[in-house]
Amino acid sequence: MTNDKMILLNPGPVNLSDRVRNALLCPDLCHREVEFSQLQSRIREQLLQVYDLEGDRWAAVLLTGSGTAAMEAMVSSLVPRNGKLLVIENGVYGERLSKIAKIHDINYITLSHPWDAEIDIKGLIKLLDENTDITHLAVVHHETTTGRLNNLIEVAAICQQRRIELLVDAVSSFGAEELNFTDWGITACAATANKCLHGVPGTSFVILRRDALLLANTIPRTLYLDLATYCQQQDKGGTPFTQSVQTFYALAEALQEMVEAGGWRARHRSYSQLANLVRDGLASIGIKPLLSSGSSSVVLNAYYLPDNFSYEEFHDQLKAQNYVIYSGQGNLAQSVFRVSTMGAITQADMERFVSVVEKIIALVT
Ligand SMILES: *Cc1c(COP(=O)(O)O)cnc(C)c1O
Repeated sequence: MTNDKMILLNPGPVNLSDRVRNALLCPDLCHREVEFSQLQSRIREQLLQVYDLEGDRWAAVLLTGSGTAAMEAMVSSLVPRNGKLLVIENGVYGERLSKIAKIHDINYITLSHPWDAEIDIKGLIKLLDENTDITHLAVVHHETTTGRLNNLIEVAAICQQRRIELLVDAVSSFGAEELNFTDWGITACAATANKCLHGVPGTSFVILRRDALLLANTIPRTLYLDLATYCQQQDKGGTPFTQSVQTFYALAEALQEMVEAGGWRARHRSYSQLANLVRDGLASIGIKPLLSSGSSSVVLNAYYLPDNFSYEEFHDQLKAQNYVIYSGQGNLAQSVFRVSTMGAITQADMERFVSVVEKIIALVT
């Protein structure tokens, strides 16, 4: 182990600021004491404030678990037993939404695409015309598999026209991409502390329209992940189960830091600068992106591996220089690598990254 800082370019967990890391050292706290209750209520308000949501119409429900816990809580709690779900898939996370539906025995169908494809809006309309019994639609906002920012605005408009409840996996976009809950008619969205919010892994959350709980399952499908139970108890300052107290401290600090830096719009701008710096720098040495910049999020981009490198070799050489890149998944595992610019990293970190890549490639050509 060296003491040098590893720069994490994987899509979470992200590099922490000193301020967030130090928050982990706050006093030991029982989750049944008033201090915890205040901390939890503060985070719930801070999360709604990220996108200016009103507490009487919206609720943030905090869970202990990674982003997948929030996805599973959202889908299993909000689709009622007599409901029918349509899942849009164009990557690993869309497919995960379907797996969740399947495991919980939810009545669902899918609109599947190849992983590098954008959502087929005409196909979506056709499928909904053929299946007028669909009550809920689940979609990934930023599909981290490829870095694609899905066309949520268009999907949301279609759901609004047809009065379909819209469930969004915004795990890797919440805090850095636009999410207009009210105008787009979002019912609920799942997200996490340790991606664009720069907190510690261990806390995830669902932001939901309060009236969605009225339509939800009255007989829960799950004990641990039932959102109605969490929401009721959190509204009273309680929690059904032990929460990850230290992670909560870190999330409160990360959210405060984000507000001071100018909120999600400022974070969007700074990610965008870093992503463009990497994209332009890699392009100048012949490394091509998987998707055009117009289709990509500002959070993560996938690139084709340089010639004559396996992913493992490229990864290991970069790691020796303190950069951790991320592999492609499935079919993309041997052809792409991914670079996320989330977390407490700087322009200088990414400028050095580009020059390190340049040197590594120059050695083999
Ligand atoms: C990271 C991520 C998740 C959740 O992954 P965890 O490993 O459970 O945190 C879900 N959806 C998307 C789009 C993601 O990027």
